[in-house]
Amino acid sequence: MTQPIRLLIHGASGRMGSALLRLAAGKPELLVVAAVSRSRGLAAGAHFNFFPADQLQVCPAFDVAVDFSLPDALAPLLSACLTRNAALVSGTTGYSAEQFRELETAARQIPIVWAANFSLGVVVLEDLVQRAAIALKHWDVRIEETHHAHKKDAPSGTALTLARATGRVGASQPQIDSIRRDEVVGDHLVSFSGPGETVELRHHAESRDIFASGALEAACVIAGKRPGLYRMADLMFPGA
Ligand code: NAD
Repeated sequence: MTQPIRLLIHGASGRMGSALLRLAAGKPELLVVAAVSRSRGLAAGAHFNFFPADQLQVCPAFDVAVDFSLPDALAPLLSACLTRNAALVSGTTGYSAEQFRELETAARQIPIVWAANFSLGVVVLEDLVQRAAIALKHWDVRIEETHHAHKKDAPSGTALTLARATGRVGASQPQIDSIRRDEVVGDHLVSFSGPGETVELRHHAESRDIFASGALEAACVIAGKRPGLYRMADLMFPGA
């Protein structure tokens, strides 16, 4: 039998971290060897090998780190992955341009996938938005994103990714409206308005499990890949 992929879950006490730990426990091909977060209070402490963030460097060996934390955690996390020659799956949003450059530099040595949204539906949505932007180049584009009231960054990373998808093909820069309300997991609406007609592309996330299972799937695919900065679409639809 092949050995399971050893995972380090980074941001383990958070909303996403909890979903990752729960779903990974049901996958025999994955083994969580370390659950790392800044704050302790979670189920992870009871069931998983818990490490506070300042002890990241003494965690056991791992093959892939799956990170849903905060931007200020990036430097020590990259250093731990580089030291162990481990891959990184990162869903943390709100990185600065400088931090994206750090990811690119590290990706010369290890495989990394970063995505603002790990749901399969949003991978497809990005492709649809880009195709619509090519065909409807002179129409106005508007993005509306709604998330729970605790979300720290605005606009959402997904809204920025969708905006870049229209920008890449030269369509007009979208207006982005961010709404923070209750416990909404994540809704995105992209509208293309032309003379007398509108096209709307919409994604609704019902549960964080869609992001967590996409990230775990990415962890399975990226383990053993060559160094490089991958997009979710590269891993899910290779050759497309
Ligand atoms: P959260 O606030 O519930 O959890 C954050 C976690 O990170 C906590 O465990 C906290 O202890 C930990 N943390 C904070 N600073 C840290 C540090 N310096 N070192 C180690 N751990 C640290 O947040 P959340 O809702 O789980 O979201 C986490 C991130 O994931 C956010 O950036 C969010 O936007 C992003 N997110 C991405 C996707 C996606 O599909 N890419 C989906 C949902 C959320």
